[in-house]
Amino acid sequence: MTVNDTPIGSRTHLDNDNANDKPSRPPHFLEQIIQGDIQSGKTPQIVTRFPPEPNGYLHIGHAKSICLNFGLAETFGGVCNLRFDDTNPAKEDQEYIDAIIRDVEWLGFRWQGDVRYASSYFQQLHDWAVDLIEQGKAYVCHLTADQAREYRGTLTEAGQNSPYRERTIEENLAEFTKMREGHYDEGTCVLRAKIDMASPNMNMRDPILYRIRKQTHHQTGDDWCIYPTYDFAHGQEDAIEGITHSICTLEFADHRPLYEWFVQHLPVPSEPTQYEFGRLNLNYTVTSKRKLKQLVDEQHVDGWDDPRLPTIAGLRRRGVRPEALRKFCDMIGVTKSDGVVDVAMLEHAIRDDLDKNAPRAMCVLNPLKVTLTNYPEDKTEVMHAQGHPNRDDLEERELPFSREIFIDADDFREEANKKYKRLVIGKRVRLRNAYVIEADECVKDEQGNIVEVKARVIEGTVGNNPEDGIKPKGVIQWVDGKQHATFDVALYDRLFTDESPDAGDKDFLSLINPSSLEKKTQCVGEIGLANAVVGTTYQFEREGYFCRDTRSEILTFNRTIGLRDTFVG
Ligand code: ATP
Ligand code: MG
Repeated sequence: MTVNDTPIGSRTHLDNDNANDKPSRPPHFLEQIIQGDIQSGKTPQIVTRFPPEPNGYLHIGHAKSICLNFGLAETFGGVCNLRFDDTNPAKEDQEYIDAIIRDVEWLGFRWQGDVRYASSYFQQLHDWAVDLIEQGKAYVCHLTADQAREYRGTLTEAGQNSPYRERTIEENLAEFTKMREGHYDEGTCVLRAKIDMASPNMNMRDPILYRIRKQTHHQTGDDWCIYPTYDFAHGQEDAIEGITHSICTLEFADHRPLYEWFVQHLPVPSEPTQYEFGRLNLNYTVTSKRKLKQLVDEQHVDGWDDPRLPTIAGLRRRGVRPEALRKFCDMIGVTKSDGVVDVAMLEHAIRDDLDKNAPRAMCVLNPLKVTLTNYPEDKTEVMHAQGHPNRDDLEERELPFSREIFIDADDFREEANKKYKRLVIGKRVRLRNAYVIEADECVKDEQGNIVEVKARVIEGTVGNNPEDGIKPKGVIQWVDGKQHATFDVALYDRLFTDESPDAGDKDFLSLINPSSLEKKTQCVGEIGLANAVVGTTYQFEREGYFCRDTRSEILTFNRTIGLRDTFVG
């Protein structure tokens, strides 16, 4: 007999859970603004952008920003750019660029034209800095970092003017050229805008425009030894790209007057308007890039794509589908204030998506041999099982069945009360998609552990929903003893036991959940799982959702999430 061993669920990409089916919710404030701008003719076509700094992997918070920026462009017939804000070569890396591109694509978004880089505007930004100097609006300052901090003042006290503030334009041009040509060491001077040291907004107190960094840049090599600050670069990059709605998180609201000051004083080709929205914070999770990097660098987790991390790469390796993340980002909404979202809501979105889309399979995590004493030794039948209870497009599975099978050790007891609806000596249970069996006895080893159960098939009960009149107490999963897949599983749980590990005053490393990963070896599953497709998440019936790990050398399944939903929506 041959059994169809094509990988089960190989057609999951035929997703009929209409991901574009936007829930009917009222438009959020950015949608309202854009709708208005289009209707009034102010912005015939919107241009947004997602501007990551390539200094780490993207996480679930970035997914919110991606879904928002690309989503708005999609909704309103506009375009969205992907631009790396690569102004700090010290912390950036090509690895992060590649990972970010992969993640945005995986989420299902396409950017306008090529991937863009802030670094490709370095010459223009430099020329604009020179323009400010020529207008008498920027100067080279040699205060040390400590001195500059003292001069800056505080939230309640005005700052003081730098002694270098009144240099002549000629002197500043000469000094800036020296900076540019590498005559000065890192940290010895900066170029600052000349605005107002008494401004109540600290960002306006002569902010830094350029710093010296004698670093090789991943895009521009050694062309530059001065680099623009984020504040000087960001708004101008948007202006160069003709971004119409420059969307960022709330902490940049106080920077807006500075961005507007640049636009006002420089001959930029367009005038983007900045809007701020509340960032996504999740409880039981850290989304600070610095902390994520520390978890990775100090090997508390298995790389940036460890399935316990809230990184997009981690969520993917865990078996989460991009549709679930997009749905989640839509569910949480977009507001003008920060809040903390319950991680159970993310888990709910993941589970809901998988319930609708994950092909079904049977696996046994703690195998216990069952010998069916009245079943012929040389016989093998093929049982048929649905790919999914409501999805005809997911292939039917063929399951070999023979005299020896495995059930989960937890699904058998010698004796039990009525609440236990599984296999008990003298009682019956249905093997899902196969026969009803009745247990007669069990075999134990010298230590008294149950190593085998002897049972009988009840004739005429084959099939999943037979009208055979026999009503066993429960239904359990099983795996054929001869033809099956053997694998390891990694049972993942939340990485932190504490509700707010990201809170500033906490030692987040001490809050790591010691049982966030439990490994099991020698698990068995139906034969089709031997060829499980990477990127497909299965429902292992009665156990949870699992996907094939991309990194392990031996076949390993990661538990994406259990079956039980704890979210009270
Ligand atoms: P940092 O700038 O400190 O390195 P970051 O998290 O801001 O970290 P960026 O690469 O600058 O990282 O982020 C890219 C975009 O993603 C920004 O527009 C940022 O506002 C947005 N973003 C980052 N974190 C979140 C979050 N938790 N919720 C929503 N948007 C976020
Ligand atoms: Mg940032």
